[in-house]
Amino acid sequence: MFEALPQQPGDEIIALMQAFRADPRETKLDLGVGVYRDAHGNTPVMGAIKEAERRLWQSETTKTYVGLAGDPEFADAMRRLILNDAVSADHVTGAATTGGTAAFRAGLEMIQLAAPDAQIWISAPTWPNHPSIISYLNMPMSEYRYFDPETGGVDFDGMMTDLSNAAPGDVVLLHGCCHNPTGANLNASQWQDVAEIMRTKRLIPFIDLAYQGFGNGLDADAYGVRHLAKTMPEMIIAASCSKNFGVYRDRVGALLLVSQDTGVQGVARDTAAFLNRQAYSFPPDHGARLVTMVLNDPNLRAQWQAELSDIRDGLSLLRTELAHALRQRTGSDRFGFLAEHRGMFSRLGATRAQVDEMREVHGIYMVGDSRMNIAGLNTSTVPLLADAIVAAGV
Ligand code: PMP
Repeated sequence: MFEALPQQPGDEIIALMQAFRADPRETKLDLGVGVYRDAHGNTPVMGAIKEAERRLWQSETTKTYVGLAGDPEFADAMRRLILNDAVSADHVTGAATTGGTAAFRAGLEMIQLAAPDAQIWISAPTWPNHPSIISYLNMPMSEYRYFDPETGGVDFDGMMTDLSNAAPGDVVLLHGCCHNPTGANLNASQWQDVAEIMRTKRLIPFIDLAYQGFGNGLDADAYGVRHLAKTMPEMIIAASCSKNFGVYRDRVGALLLVSQDTGVQGVARDTAAFLNRQAYSFPPDHGARLVTMVLNDPNLRAQWQAELSDIRDGLSLLRTELAHALRQRTGSDRFGFLAEHRGMFSRLGATRAQVDEMREVHGIYMVGDSRMNIAGLNTSTVPLLADAIVAAGV
């Protein structure tokens, strides 16, 4: 049977990681894989998580199953983190999932059950797993314009024009903050306009929130999602704790379903639990419990927020330094957008040939669409990258 399996496309980023490992050059620079790294190139366990883990190790007396939707305290802590008081608790149901990816998939499956003909509108470009999972589920998909390569910012007119062509009941997938792969984000007034067009056209927002706290702050990064929760009749949120709690391999995510109509919350809750059961029964609990402990304990929370601020400030500083180094070398501000971008990633706007040249000649590894992981830099490697960008003629 196995010989009949169709060949699946390889993962470009994993291939890039392998090529990086095999590269003997000491000055090589990995800007490919999407994990946060500190100035020494490490991805440490956050101190608050380590402390929660110590406490849990001491206090946990059983590892028996929890529940198909995970621990309700986790879902509630995530609801407060993401939505704060934008809507009251009875308008939201939540379930723990196996990372943000499983939350995204469960959100799609929920759409498939309720509205199988709805188009899923994705930004051009978006995180490659989005179109991959949507097509795997055979769901109808369209793209809306998002990134403007000329300015390095959002092509907002293009986005609004494309969304105005969506049909009532269609679903619009939006990155809550820190857009992956471009780094270009909507500002507050643009979020309001997007909400307004979705409200009048009766479109359903589906928010992928994978980097809350990496952009401008925990609350600032939730502006869009909170505004939509206040103004839209319904919304799906797929949240990931992989980055902002640094618990990548523990697989911590949440699916939140928001509705103005509290009467539908029961069926939404049952469906979220049902979908978990069809995929893997019980979602992992360990990481979700650590996240709950950190969010609900004032001291751990303060420690976590301080650690998250350090990450955010570090990313912003590297962005400013890179934009400055390029301004010095080019005598122009055309890379100024790098300082405006937020989150871990920026799309540089280099061609594939230029990306190849930077890898081959300078040992700088970025994804083929010229997505750079800013966290792969440190103050001493910024000039190397700036030199390579200029030498490659970007
Ligand atoms: N959405 C986006 C945009 C992401 O970048 C990621 C992580 N790469 C995820 C969702 C999901 O991450 P995870 O499943 O590891 O929690």
